[in-house]
Amino acid sequence: PHAVVVAGAGQAGLETAAALRARGYTGRVTLVGDEPPGPCHRPPLSKGYLTGAVPAEDVPLRPASFYAEQDVELLTGTTVVSVDRERHTVLLESGLRLPYGALVLATGCRPRPLPVPGASLHGVRTLRGLADAEVLRRALQGPPLRLVVVGAGFVGLEVAATARGLGHEVTVVETQPRALTRALTPAVSERIVAEHRAQGVRVLTGRQVAVLHGDDRERVRAVELADGERIGADLVVVGIGVLPNTEPARAAGLAVDDGVLVDAGLRTADPDVWAVGDCASFPEPRTGRRMRLESVQNATDQARCVAAAICGEPHPYTAVPRFWTEQYALRVQMAGLTSGHDETVTVGDVAGGRFSVLCFREGRLIGVESVNRPADHGITARLLAAGTALSPAAAREPGFDLKKLPR
Ligand code: FAD
Repeated sequence: PHAVVVAGAGQAGLETAAALRARGYTGRVTLVGDEPPGPCHRPPLSKGYLTGAVPAEDVPLRPASFYAEQDVELLTGTTVVSVDRERHTVLLESGLRLPYGALVLATGCRPRPLPVPGASLHGVRTLRGLADAEVLRRALQGPPLRLVVVGAGFVGLEVAATARGLGHEVTVVETQPRALTRALTPAVSERIVAEHRAQGVRVLTGRQVAVLHGDDRERVRAVELADGERIGADLVVVGIGVLPNTEPARAAGLAVDDGVLVDAGLRTADPDVWAVGDCASFPEPRTGRRMRLESVQNATDQARCVAAAICGEPHPYTAVPRFWTEQYALRVQMAGLTSGHDETVTVGDVAGGRFSVLCFREGRLIGVESVNRPADHGITARLLAAGTALSPAAAREPGFDLKKLPR
């Protein structure tokens, strides 16, 4: 077999290498990444790693011994800067040129910068990798701070919850009229925000950050909103979304539009180049819409799909999207895609904080959000994968129980 080069040593890149070996691929496999520690779990970086509940040794995705045992060459501290598709080589920032038979782009995303004056003051941080988390961990494990989180998305709200749990004074500022607008139904996002407020976090929605003010040592001191309110701040965490890392794809002359464009089998227009994970824009099989997904499940399943293709067993990517977030004692899980629903049915105990919102479009179940109902999540993910028919009317029947549905 030819050599496989994977650009990006994150979740999707690591899983590609691991899946190739699990399938018995015997060619050379090289994983190239710029983050020095090598592939890491990102979910704890906004949660348990900041509190110390998840120790540093649990953050790597694989122990150091994995790479030698599986004969996966890991090159960290460098990036893929260009691709010569005719000669089938990539050039690394280090100057090294690597030949490939198959190239997998798994370059992930980077945080979107906050486009306001003062965004480069000391104490204004974003969170993506272990190095970012390490800075936040040290700050949050110190004496109480006034933390302002810009953006009520998953990363921002998780950091807010973690910081509040550590006793800091926390304000969240969100431009949209509600938190997690794009990701969650109002019922679930309202439940999350209610918990933040009950825990003493100030959550401001429909409000915009205009300027960050610093002191004479260029340290952030206050966040000024468009309506003139000034919020005192010792630390600002910006979580306003991400931008896909598409530089190698662009350098290779491949099509890019909010991600590297791939087909239903995650292949680019070049039959020897694939893209997986957060950086890949693929046609979602159930809607046909092009999309990027940012989740561990998507990175892992896309990696397996591409490893299969490289091993000569190509198939379309059809996995049901799954995601989870943890904030305080809330564990919210999502299966399928809920955006575009025209009807919802809520099951369980909303007042008690254990419920699921079933989302339908044209009478068909398209996605489910579960709050502290892990069994519902497991069952509905299987229903969605199997395409089992479930109507909103059936879900509304008294005594309806997901566990009693045929599997
Ligand atoms: P990444 O893991 O970002 O890896 C891409 C790697 O490629 C990076 O190391 C990047 O630096 C590198 N790279 C970029 N350009 C180049 C280049 N030119 N050459 C070489 N390397 C390059 N998902 C969940 O499902 N549940 C969660 O609870 C959850 N929590 C999260 C918390 C945080 C703080 C963050 C940041 C993410 C979280 N996610 C969560 C999302 C999940 O971690 C991502 O979807 C997943 O890591 C995507 O994997 P990836 O390999 O596509 O990208």
